[in-house]
Amino acid sequence: MSITKSQTNVLKNYINGQWVESNTDETLEVPNPATGEILAHVPISTKEDVDFAVKSAKATFEKWKNVPVPKRARIFFKYHTLLSENHEELARLIVQENGKAFKESYGEVQRGIECVEFAAGAPTLMMGETLSGIAEGIDSEMFRYPLGVVGGVTPFNFPMMVPLWMFPLAIACGNTFVLKPSERTPLLANKLVELFSEAGAPDGTLNLVHGAHDVVNGLLDHKDVKAISFVGSQPVAKYIYERAASQGKRVQALAGAKNHHIVMPDGNIEKVVQQIISSTYGSAGQRCMACSAVVVVGENDEFVKALNEKAGQLTMGNGLDDDVLLTPMIRRENREKTLGYIRTGVEEGASLIRDGRNEMDETEKGNFLGPTIFDHVTPEMTIAKEEIFAPVLSLLRAKDLDEGLEFIRKSRFGNGATIYTKDAKAIRQFREEADAGMLGVNVGVPATMAFFPFSGWKDSFYGDLHVNGKDGVNFYTRKKMITSRHD
Ligand code: NAD
Repeated sequence: MSITKSQTNVLKNYINGQWVESNTDETLEVPNPATGEILAHVPISTKEDVDFAVKSAKATFEKWKNVPVPKRARIFFKYHTLLSENHEELARLIVQENGKAFKESYGEVQRGIECVEFAAGAPTLMMGETLSGIAEGIDSEMFRYPLGVVGGVTPFNFPMMVPLWMFPLAIACGNTFVLKPSERTPLLANKLVELFSEAGAPDGTLNLVHGAHDVVNGLLDHKDVKAISFVGSQPVAKYIYERAASQGKRVQALAGAKNHHIVMPDGNIEKVVQQIISSTYGSAGQRCMACSAVVVVGENDEFVKALNEKAGQLTMGNGLDDDVLLTPMIRRENREKTLGYIRTGVEEGASLIRDGRNEMDETEKGNFLGPTIFDHVTPEMTIAKEEIFAPVLSLLRAKDLDEGLEFIRKSRFGNGATIYTKDAKAIRQFREEADAGMLGVNVGVPATMAFFPFSGWKDSFYGDLHVNGKDGVNFYTRKKMITSRHD
């Protein structure tokens, strides 16, 4: 709900080392997805706020780029300590504003901390290359330099990890940063900024502007923003990529997903069910690496029965309560959209073998939806093609692995895919032919760690260089070649 700024508890932006009020009149409520309690109001900042932040980041860049790399890196050691000391508080904040379970939130904080560890390796990561004697008496050297001001735009579903995919490495490489976090999870972003400042980061290295489209467009169109890191839904990722790239900016835009898990007939049913349940229903299915389509190879009704039974035993509730796996969806409108997909699935002829609507209470403030399973889904159906981003699972039946792989190839998305089997030949075929960037072998969430690229394919990614790993370093630096003759 949009309200005016007379509300108390309106969050501030962080620009040039100061918490400053946005000059907007518009704010949005930030409700706890489990209880509806209003946690804060987030300002929908303006282009003027963006200009102010970019100006600060640009002025700081002129000094920051000359700070010796090991000195830059040392801030991240301190930041690492502070994040670790606040691990539990950060996790609780994630539960409050995002809704996911405490255990998952705790794990997300850990993933974020690992990105800071990676960025602290900047002196090694930023090393160039040399070749003595490219011709007689002539040598070549390559040095890396930062780009300037980088803009980062992040989604609601990983309020800690995704911003930390971006600004630590960007800043360690000598850039300065303007972060626009999701307007649905702004509180964690404030905490990240606060701790970064406490770690000794100079004013203006990391700036934070809350808001929505205007802030994003302000960053995309600003001549002093040299690169954009984006993570979010597919249509927005494509839009961001096209608008920023057409203005000569470097862009990486990570997008939506439809991750297929192939269950071969030899899989250990109990273990496979466990992996799929936690991948599908953890974070209420709101993970870009969530399993959303299971390809059952062969007549494996025993597996389907076991999966359905296990889904029926899930504990649904507030993420702060013990043993809860299924938590609320981020907003009521996300649940409404999901209910539309469930109706479409039924209309298009899929068989609804578990209907999460039965566990939903319209009078409750939380945005809960029970675990939902469709069987006999075909690749042409809407629920098989589109990202639903909810606790809704589609089961597709395939006669063999070839057909299962064909389903993956038909999907426009290519973030992740998993196979469950012990059969080495099937695993090899899956590795070679699965048309996705992050594969799992008996692993339900094959998300990569900070020192590897997070490498979605097809419509799950727009750009060339992925986040994290060497790709991340290449994204945030440009190279200069020196060719020298000494005779
Ligand atoms: P979203 O696209 O709605 O929002 C992401 C960001 O873009 C937010 O900061 C938002 O303010 C901004 N935004 C939204 N619409 C915009 C527009 N029209 N113009 C300019 N800016 C706009 O995504 P979300 O709902 O916050 O996050 C969930 C999505 O993110 C899912 O599709 C999920 O798969 C994807 N995701 C992908 C990855 C990945 O690694 N590929 C990781 C996490 C999330």
